[in-house]
Amino acid sequence: MAVNRNPEIKYTQIFINNEWVNSVSGKTFETINPVTGKVITRVQEGDKADIDKAVKAARLAFKRGSVWRTIDASERGRLLNRLADLIERDVDYLASLETLDNGMPYKRAVHEIRGGLGLLRYYAGWPDKVHGKVIPADGQVFAFTRVEPIGVCGQIIPWNYPLFLLAGKLGPALATGNVVVVKPAEQTPLTALYVANLVKEAGFPPGVVNVVPGYGHTAGAALSEHLDVDKIAFTGSTEVGKLIQIASGKSNGKRVTLETGGKSPLIVFDDANIDEAVVVAHETVFVNQGQTCCAATRLFVQDTIYDKFVEKSVELAKKRQLGDPYETTTQQGPQIDDKQFAKVLKLIDTGVQEGAKLLAGGKRWGTRGYYVEPTVFADVKDSHTIAKEEIFGPVQSILKFKTLDEVVDRANDTTYGLAAGAFTNDVNKALKLFQSLESGNVWINTFLAVKPQTPFGGYKQSGFGREFGEDGLHEYLEIKSVVFKVDEKNS
Ligand code: NAP
Ligand code: MG
Repeated sequence: MAVNRNPEIKYTQIFINNEWVNSVSGKTFETINPVTGKVITRVQEGDKADIDKAVKAARLAFKRGSVWRTIDASERGRLLNRLADLIERDVDYLASLETLDNGMPYKRAVHEIRGGLGLLRYYAGWPDKVHGKVIPADGQVFAFTRVEPIGVCGQIIPWNYPLFLLAGKLGPALATGNVVVVKPAEQTPLTALYVANLVKEAGFPPGVVNVVPGYGHTAGAALSEHLDVDKIAFTGSTEVGKLIQIASGKSNGKRVTLETGGKSPLIVFDDANIDEAVVVAHETVFVNQGQTCCAATRLFVQDTIYDKFVEKSVELAKKRQLGDPYETTTQQGPQIDDKQFAKVLKLIDTGVQEGAKLLAGGKRWGTRGYYVEPTVFADVKDSHTIAKEEIFGPVQSILKFKTLDEVVDRANDTTYGLAAGAFTNDVNKALKLFQSLESGNVWINTFLAVKPQTPFGGYKQSGFGREFGEDGLHEYLEIKSVVFKVDEKNS
């Protein structure tokens, strides 16, 4: 691993048709280093007019008979693998850039980018393996289905795992032959712009991938409302997810898939491997500064082991290393920006006011940037705000339970349904749990086990549609039914 504390910023413009252009309005916006709160650079600010240009370029690239529409499916796989090769070549640079823009520890950034590579390589294998079926339909007919790309797909990305989530959206969209317009988060546009250049270097035809940095309420909204966009894939807050559904309904009824928030329960039974459960519970709530949609934010621990478990969790939180994210020993960096920083501290305060027991952290760490101490609350009640709202910060809430039936009801008593998990060595308990937990992902004796091969997504208000795995591919495909009448007399 070669850390570069001062990565050169190579791309700050808008990427349309494999070319770098300035915004139509001439406006730019700042991207900030959350370690210092200082401006890293200014980036061209895309808006409605730039989104229009990008959508036009994408539509042209998708035209019947175009290079992209007529290349072999296997060639799309080769291009995706080539893109993955280039990201792998530049992984140290990309990780250095991600750390600068997002504040995540460098080691974590390398892990994140390798995760993105896993997704790209997984989808690179699919283009010539996804196909329709021959169907024994009623009557003298020959019937089959054909899978086809949807068309122009808008992809709206959040700031918490910028490159990983970008790869998870580009992979299935390009494997299936779609064209995309990406809107990265305003806080973290830099790695998406660098990847855009690698898309060109890999040899993708112009217009297949376009990247328009800008704000959500302008560029993001223009994409969601666009009459010539066929689909929006969104990851971010539940609130904005709902706005995107409204925008789709008010414009052209474009397809929408949403991966939104979560308040994921992790349940630890007294028959489990407790030492392992403590470490996994700690790691999966504090990882990435607590800014993970499926983090273990409601930790239910059985009453018989509760006190010991809390004690060990507090010990671990107090040992967590905060500091310069480029240091390899650093486990936790700053929150993404001043807004999230203030929101997290306010919610911690609410936890104290409502009577949860604060046993570690609770304050700002250091004097500059947006660091928050790893915070542990015990005796958290289901009714507490910190047990209901998504905090998106380094806050562990530990709740107590007695029986399986009780804890399943409590775990399910949420508007979210992204992930849930349990630690138990009793297979009967595990069977009951994965049948009854209302969530898109259930992890037993592990947590945050997100894999390229397994579908990821939410129940309830955590969204709909799936990303990753074979199911993620089908979110980017239309199915066409073809029925031929068979003329028996002339055969
Ligand atoms: P957000 O506002 O939902 O942002 C996600 C993406 O949507 C960004 O690219 C954002 O643009 C864009 N966006 C914002 N308003 C839009 C609109 N009206 N139309 C179209 N796109 C729009 O999330 P956030 O403000 O960054 O974070 C707030 C909360 O979201 C967090 O506290 C957390 O609860 C949740 N969150 C969840 C995930 C997840 O993985 N599920 C990830 C990040 C955040 P900008 O660049 O202008 O923000
Ligand atoms: Mg930034």
